[in-house]
Amino acid sequence: MTAAELYSFRYSSDPKVRAESYQSQFKVLGEDGPILGQMYQTRVRDWHNENVNLRKFKSPIAARNLSNDVPDEAVEALLNVAKKNVGIFQRYFKMKAKYIGMKKLRRYDIYAPVAASKKTYNWDEAVNMVLDAFNAFEPKIGSLAKRVFDHHRIDSEIRKGKRGGAFCWSYLPEETPYVLVNYQGTGREVATLAHELGHAIHSMLAEHHNTFTFHSSLPLAETASTFAEMVLIDKLLSEEKDESVRRDILFKQIDDSYATIMRQSYFAIFEKEAHDLVMKNASVDDLCKAYLDSLKQHFGDSLDLSDEFKWEWVGIPHIYHTPFYVYAYAFGQLLVLALYQQYKAEGESFKPKYLKILSAGGSESPENILKEAGINIRDEKFWQGGFDVLEKLVSQLESLPVGTKKAKPTAKKKAVKKVAKKSVAKKKTAKKKKK
Ligand SMILES: [Zn+2]
Repeated sequence: MTAAELYSFRYSSDPKVRAESYQSQFKVLGEDGPILGQMYQTRVRDWHNENVNLRKFKSPIAARNLSNDVPDEAVEALLNVAKKNVGIFQRYFKMKAKYIGMKKLRRYDIYAPVAASKKTYNWDEAVNMVLDAFNAFEPKIGSLAKRVFDHHRIDSEIRKGKRGGAFCWSYLPEETPYVLVNYQGTGREVATLAHELGHAIHSMLAEHHNTFTFHSSLPLAETASTFAEMVLIDKLLSEEKDESVRRDILFKQIDDSYATIMRQSYFAIFEKEAHDLVMKNASVDDLCKAYLDSLKQHFGDSLDLSDEFKWEWVGIPHIYHTPFYVYAYAFGQLLVLALYQQYKAEGESFKPKYLKILSAGGSESPENILKEAGINIRDEKFWQGGFDVLEKLVSQLESLPVGTKKAKPTAKKKAVKKVAKKSVAKKKTAKKKKK
């Protein structure tokens, strides 16, 4: 089995399969760990020799910050705030355990599926939902998205020989971008459509720049796309009456935010520590211990963490090939959440600022682009705004009647369990069919 095939079992509805997916991975990583760890130590020393000793960067991470064009202080603020908010996800994992019928999650279970709704949307419905949501937010955004359809720049059908996944390709500032999706009707795919159209809108708003500056820089690359998803999701949540659908939307959002924000932030926090430790001649075992300690901090008592996770770090490709790259994921996602928080607080007056941020494309540093909109990325308060949005989502889930402490009527719970079982059974047959 390839790693990708193995990883897909982390999302299995069978707890045993989820555990085995991780155990098989760590068996291999544990066997190769001493060699991989030694390669990492060498990589870290090289990085230090070049960037700190020769180029005189103040710290190993400062070299990455320069290539991302963001100040050290902003990255420090982001990582500090992530540490302070680790409790939000601990609360989430404790709640998720109840939803999937476990007393306490194991680390293996954090991506376990919660009983999924079977709601689907046909293509026209999906397009209208997205365009309606964009138009309701800002007519200019809606009309730019419509341009992608009017110019026939979207490929949505499933057909033999077509590549999977989804992307947007903005090739020249004066041309309407191309969007590719593989649309099959799930709510998740409607969100993907909004996401890719968000990328297209970002480039179209920056079309007055030249070929070299209209593409946004890495830390801002996912701003319009993630924001577009938020706009859609917000509209869906406000209109959706079916609680199982609402719950699915919320769980998906928080699962994704965990993986993009907290997990990646903690990778970066570990990398900083690992770079220090290696320069103090730490062994691979010392690094394993440091990694496990950081996971313990990260999860607290919210789940059971087994010892084999000490090998997880040797399997993270980014820490070898692009040290400290991972914080860009957290940066982008959190930035959007913080912007969204600002939108909620300011309403209409936020919109021109937002359009200005997108219209800048890659013509300025992220800090200057955001400064013009009144945002200070060196300020912890700004990043906290992003976590406040997540905290609200977790609270919203906690307040839904099923699976929370407040939900007393057992009959209702049983009914939900039945539905869950049914959908699991259906999934199993669907998988078999595929095989
Ligand atoms: Zn994207």
